[in-house]
Amino acid sequence: MDIEKTKEYYAQLDYSDLCQCDDCKNYVKKIKASYPLIDDYLSQFGIDITKPFETAPVDFDEETIMYLMAQYIVMGESDGFENTKINDVEIFITESHPMTSITEPHFVIEICPVYLKKN
Ligand SMILES: [Zn+2]
Repeated sequence: MDIEKTKEYYAQLDYSDLCQCDDCKNYVKKIKASYPLIDDYLSQFGIDITKPFETAPVDFDEETIMYLMAQYIVMGESDGFENTKINDVEIFITESHPMTSITEPHFVIEICPVYLKKN
């Protein structure tokens, strides 16, 4: 993976480029404080946890949204990236994702599942 290019990617990615639905906005607002260990882990690769490429939210209960997955773009080749699990959250490379518009080498990782409070 290319950590510098990944940092650049997230630096130029504006919040207005992300999905603007309520569940995604909730994710952007809550994820960092709710999952600090995941944030630390992704940060070392230059990934900004507040800027997911894709999420799959479902209502879990009255107060909670369960994100079946959240996907992140990583620049460079995927060799060197190890799939892992932190607490109950799996972090792994996925081939199953929407098309990205990036022409340089990159790959997509997924974290799942994530539970966040609404509001
Ligand atoms: Zn959304």
